[in-house]
Amino acid sequence: MSLRHRVERVVVGGGIGGLTAALALARHGLAVHVLEQAPEFGEIGAGVQLAPNALRVLDRLGVLNDVLGSAVRPPRAVLMSAVTGEQITAIDFGAAFVAAYGHPYIVTHRSDLLAAILDACRAEPAITLETGKNVRSVRQDGDTAVAECADGSVYRADALIGADGLWSVVRAHTVGDGEPAHIGDVAYRGAIATASVSDRVGKGDMTWWVGPGLHLIQYPVRGGDLFNQVAVFSAAAQGPADAWGPPQELDRSFAGTTEYVREGVRLVDRERRWVLRDRPPVATWSKGRATLLGDAAHPMAQYLAQGACQALEDAVVLADLLAAHRADVPAAFAAYEAERVPRTAMVQTWARRMGEIVHADGVAAILRDALCADRDERDFRYLNWLYDYRPPASAR
Ligand SMILES: Cc1cc2nc3c(=O)[nH]c(=O)nc-3n(C[C@H](O)[C@H](O)[C@H](O)COP(=O)(O)OP(=O)(O)OC[C@H]3O[C@@H](n4cnc5c(N)ncnc54)[C@H](O)[C@@H]3O)c2cc1C
Repeated sequence: MSLRHRVERVVVGGGIGGLTAALALARHGLAVHVLEQAPEFGEIGAGVQLAPNALRVLDRLGVLNDVLGSAVRPPRAVLMSAVTGEQITAIDFGAAFVAAYGHPYIVTHRSDLLAAILDACRAEPAITLETGKNVRSVRQDGDTAVAECADGSVYRADALIGADGLWSVVRAHTVGDGEPAHIGDVAYRGAIATASVSDRVGKGDMTWWVGPGLHLIQYPVRGGDLFNQVAVFSAAAQGPADAWGPPQELDRSFAGTTEYVREGVRLVDRERRWVLRDRPPVATWSKGRATLLGDAAHPMAQYLAQGACQALEDAVVLADLLAAHRADVPAAFAAYEAERVPRTAMVQTWARRMGEIVHADGVAAILRDALCADRDERDFRYLNWLYDYRPPASAR
């Protein structure tokens, strides 16, 4: 079997961002080849929140109904004090929200989301998929980007899209800015049987329990059968980063929270933890025939729950522009950056700020709660910039 391949477009990384980019390209009739390092396409066993800006993309690509099939539409997002158990504020996801953005807010299992996108990719003749392909390096060769895999195979493409996540090999080539930064927080997460968590009024909501330097997010997924939990706390940051925030520290951090929150934390999966990282925004993601999308381009703190949503937005904008500038890939990449860098820089920046608001302590927490106290649950003013994004028509 030949180890040298010539393809028109190659996507490195078959996660949510990479597969959506492939699908968006194929919907324009553009051929694309996906290289995924894992032996199978797959996602971790946890939930993901998808705001209307993401649903708009899924709708356009024709996979929304599939995604909605197993997703849950929580009636509200509720910010609760993890210390007093009292409500701080809420967002009503009902009819007024849907009327404002044209789509609801949903929560779903990551595997269900990926499966819907993957099924659509498999049904597209313009997409070819390969797993077990670990891209080790990327370089330019004239008007071609070249990806070399650990197994010795080489892929030459007119356009290469790095959708290879936080530790992107493609980014090392196009930007070369070293390791992503530590946020200082550690997360534990996973979906468990809904019945294993005590019932309470509002269990079906998307609930953020917040306290000084910590929060616990809870919401149902997979039609309500599973209950997703994400417990996050500011870690002591001692020793090597991989060892930050062991389970004892998780319990210690949440010791001062309500019984219901501590119960959730007791049940959260402790097998694996995420030492959270992001990067400051950069002005360009591309070099020659290679560019980036999703976490490879703009890894962000998870406090706005927008990392995957932004990857979906990237995917359609990039595909639109590659279709519009078929004969000029660098021009497509330049237009893509002009549209997406400012937008994602804003989201990256606000995601960090949101972390400070959510984890506030002392006077800052008192101020936050006081400012939120009389908020109308249907006041969406501060969400418009985030949820009302529409890929520019000029890109199509
Ligand atoms: C605790 C937490 C909670 C979050 N919650 C939300 C949320 O509710 N909503 C939301 O929108 N976002 C959320 N996010 C962010 C979201 O998970 C990411 O932004 C999103 O998964 C990024 O998708 P991606 O496809 O860019 O990267 P990834 O999901 O990292 O996918 C990268 C893919 O590339 C493959 N790959 C990597 N290197 C190579 C290589 N060298 N060769 C070939 N393949 C390679 C990987 O195996 C993987 O399949 C959260 C993040 C965290 C940490």
